[in-house]
Amino acid sequence: MRPFQYVRATDSAGAISAVARNPESKFLAGGTNLVDLMKMGSEHPAHLVDITRLPLAEIVERDGHIRIGAMARNSDTANSPLIRERYPVLTQALLSGASAQLRNMATVGGNLMQRTRCYYFYDPSFTECNKRTPGSGCSAKSGVNRIHAILGASEQCIAVHPSDMCVALAALDAIVQVEGPQGGRSIPFAEFHRLPGDKPSIDTTLKPNELITAVDLPALPFARRSTYIKVRDRNSYAFALVSVACVLDIGPDGKIRDARIALGGVAHKPWRVRAAEQSLVGKAPAEAAYRAAADMVVNGAKPYKDNGFKVELAKRIIVRALADTAALG
Ligand code: SF4
Repeated sequence: MRPFQYVRATDSAGAISAVARNPESKFLAGGTNLVDLMKMGSEHPAHLVDITRLPLAEIVERDGHIRIGAMARNSDTANSPLIRERYPVLTQALLSGASAQLRNMATVGGNLMQRTRCYYFYDPSFTECNKRTPGSGCSAKSGVNRIHAILGASEQCIAVHPSDMCVALAALDAIVQVEGPQGGRSIPFAEFHRLPGDKPSIDTTLKPNELITAVDLPALPFARRSTYIKVRDRNSYAFALVSVACVLDIGPDGKIRDARIALGGVAHKPWRVRAAEQSLVGKAPAEAAYRAAADMVVNGAKPYKDNGFKVELAKRIIVRALADTAALG
C-alpha cells in the first residue's frame, strides 16, 4: 500500500472542504471496499478524509418518508424496526450481503460507492482495465467473464455493480441526498449510478467533492409486500450472480396495481425496465404474466462467453420473486 495522509472530519462542511483542497483525496467511511482496493493497488488516494464521526447515522421518519443517514451501518439499517416492517426487501437485501462482521462496519453511503468486483479491476497485474486505467482495454471481454454483465455493457467495460442494498433501493425509488461545495441536492436512485459507456472509470453521477449525507425511502405502504432473492455460488459471503428485488401492490379485487422489479448482478447499475413492470398492472397475479414481464426485463441481453446462463437464471428468479411476493399476506 502506498503512503497516504489521514485526517478525521467532525462535520460535513469540514469533510467536503478537506477533500476539495486535495484532488487526490477520498472520503473514508467503513473502509470495507476502499481499504481493500488500496491494499491491492487498484486505488491509491494520497489523502483520506475519515467521515465515520459525522453525525449522519440516524434512521428516522420524516414527513412520512424514512431518512437513513449515510453513516448508518448496514447491520443497523437491516435491523431497524422501521426498515424491517415497512421495507422488508431492504432488510433482506442487506442481510444477504457480505458477512456479519462486514455489515457491522460498512455504511449505507459506502455501499452506494462500492466498486465492481471484476477480478481484473482488482488485480493490477492485469494491465488492461478501462475502469482502473482509462484507455488500457478490457481484460474481461476475452477473459473469464462468468460474473459479468448481460445488460447495459459497453465496448469499454462489461463489469457489474456488486451491491445488494442498491438493488432494493432501486426498486423502492429511493432518493440520494448529497452535499457539495455548491450546496445540497437530491438524486433519484435511478440516476445515481451510471452505465459504463465510454467512461467506465466513473461509476456515479456525483460531482467532484460531493458527499452522500442520506438516503430517503419514499412512503410506500405496499412495500411491506416485498422480497429479495439472491442467487450466488455459495450461500454466504458471495456476490450475486443474479438477484432480484420485487415489490407488489395488489388491490382488493386481486389485481396488481403497482409492480417493481430490480435486477442485480446483470449490469453496471441496478436494472429496471418500467415497461415490464407496467405490463403487470391490472392483471391477476399469475405465472403467464410473470413470464411475460421477465422476458421484457432481459430483452436485449448480450451475454459473453461464460455468462449466458444468467439470461435464463434472471428470468426464472424474476418469476419466482413475483410469485413469492404475491403470496405474501
Ligand atoms: Fe476493467 Fe470493466 Fe473490463 Fe473489468 S469489465 S476488466 S472493470 S474494464
